[in-house]
Order: sequence, then C-alpha cells, then structure tokens
Amino acid sequence: MGTVKRSIKRPEARVLIIGVGGLGSPLALVLAHAGVRTLGLADDDLIERTNLHRQILFDDADVGLRKTDVARRKLEPLGVHVEVHQSRLLPHNALDLVSRYDLVVEGSDNYPTKFLAADACRLAEVPVVHGAAVRWVGTALAVGPSGGPCYRCLFEDLPEGGGPNCATAGVVGPVVGIVAAVQADLALALLDGQPVEGTLVTFDGKTDSLRRRSIAPRASCPLCGLERTLRSIERSRYVPADPCLP
Ligand SMILES: [Zn+2]
Repeated sequence: MGTVKRSIKRPEARVLIIGVGGLGSPLALVLAHAGVRTLGLADDDLIERTNLHRQILFDDADVGLRKTDVARRKLEPLGVHVEVHQSRLLPHNALDLVSRYDLVVEGSDNYPTKFLAADACRLAEVPVVHGAAVRWVGTALAVGPSGGPCYRCLFEDLPEGGGPNCATAGVVGPVVGIVAAVQADLALALLDGQPVEGTLVTFDGKTDSLRRRSIAPRASCPLCGLERTLRSIERSRYVPADPCLP
C-alpha cells in the first residue's frame, strides 16, 4: 500500500460526496485511492440488495445498514478520515455543509438535490462536480468556485413533476461506474487547479461513447448570470418536485 503513487497534489483538500449510492460509492473509492485524505459523506439511506450491482462499496453482509457507516468502515483502512453526515442535503443544512469543504461531488438521484447542491455551492463559492445517470445515459459537469457556467446554465430549473431519476427510470450499472470515474477525474482536475470549469462529459451506454464539450455561460442564468437573482437558499425552490423532502 505504501508504495502506491498518489496522484493528487492537494491531499489535505476536504471533499464532500453528496449521495453514497451508485455514483458516490465508486467515487469515494477512486478519490481515496487517488490520495484524498478527508471525505465527507452525506446520505441518509440504508443499503438495499437490489442496488448492490452498482454500489460497489457494499456487499451482501451490509444490506440493511447505513450507507455512510459502512462506507466509513471500508474507507478508513485506505487512510481516509471520513466525516459522516447522516442526512440528505437539505435546504436548512446545505450552505453550512458545503462551506466546510474545498470541493463537492454531487451524485444524488433527484433533481431537487442537484439544484440545491448547485445553488449552495455557488453561494458558498465551492467548486462542484455534478453527476447523473438515467437508463443508458450519464453526464458529469464540472463547475468552478465562482462565476459560470453552472448547473443552472445547462438546466434552468426543476422539471415538472421532478423528472426521471434512477429509482423510477432505472439505470444500467456500468453507466454509473463510468460517470463516477469521470466525476472523480474532473474533481481531481479541479483540485489540481486545471481549467476544467464548464466541462460536460456525456456517456452513452448504448454506443459506449464518451463526448466531452465545454458549455457556455448563460447571460440570463439566475445563479451566475449578469443579473443573478438567486442569492439565498429558499426551501420552496426545492420542495415541489420531490415528495420525499421533509
Ligand atoms: Zn449559470
């Protein structure tokens, strides 16, 4: 173990992973092996047998246990200090939570959490890498600490009815693994100061093709545009589309 070459320039960087599921669990492993020494994990879910094929931090013996607790037990032997946040990212805790980290990697499975993470990270000026995977298609987007382009430049607002997510639409396991690896790559690049802000990578599992492009900032974006209007976290903005939010 001691002879493994670590690829990270800033091992002291604190990284928060939102959602320890299909994206978050491989992400945590890659970041740990890359040399990230402090990982925050935010999730309130229990491990389910039907998700094991894509949540590769967990196995049969872990079913029914808390994802965050099991993840900590498996990541600590890799030399990682794990900070457990036994909660989803919620409007009342989002700003405080993301402010405690140098980088956020968001692998949640629903749009309200994604928009909340985008808004909180922008307000706290913390870089964030978003990831999403539904059915055969996955995306990863890197957003820098200040200015655009951001998640809201790409997706203006929550889709009506919350949109599809991997729980309702299903997701193909390897697609999630690839998106997670791309997210980890973008996260390490951001930590190393490489200019990857605005990079959007799309993976199409039906053709096994990866496409990388830079998105343009949107002048009318409420979060990063010239006349930005979104300057605080208001609960009502994230509630309607997600009946799961308390
Ligand atoms: Zn924007």
